[in-house]
Amino acid sequence: MLNFFIIYNNMKKHSFLNQISFFQIMKCAICKTKVQETFLKKIIGTHIKDAKGKKHTICFECQKKFPKKEDMLANMK
Ligand SMILES: [Zn+2]
Repeated sequence: MLNFFIIYNNMKKHSFLNQISFFQIMKCAICKTKVQETFLKKIIGTHIKDAKGKKHTICFECQKKFPKKEDMLANMK
C-alpha cells in the first residue's frame, strides 16, 4: 500500500499534467455523477490509482464518504 501513496502524492505534485490526461474522464468512479470542475479545470474531488495503475476520478462527496483510498477502491463499480 505504501507504493500507492507515493504514486498518489506524485500525482498531486504533477497535477497539471494529470488534468490533461483526465480531461475526458470526469465521472466519479464510485457514484457515477459528474465531477465538478473549477474554472481552472481543476476537479472538485481527487484522483486515485488502483492496483493495476488505472486512474480514477473521485468526487468531493465520495472523498468525504470514503476518506481512505482503500475504501474508495473497494466501493468502485
Ligand atoms: Zn462520487
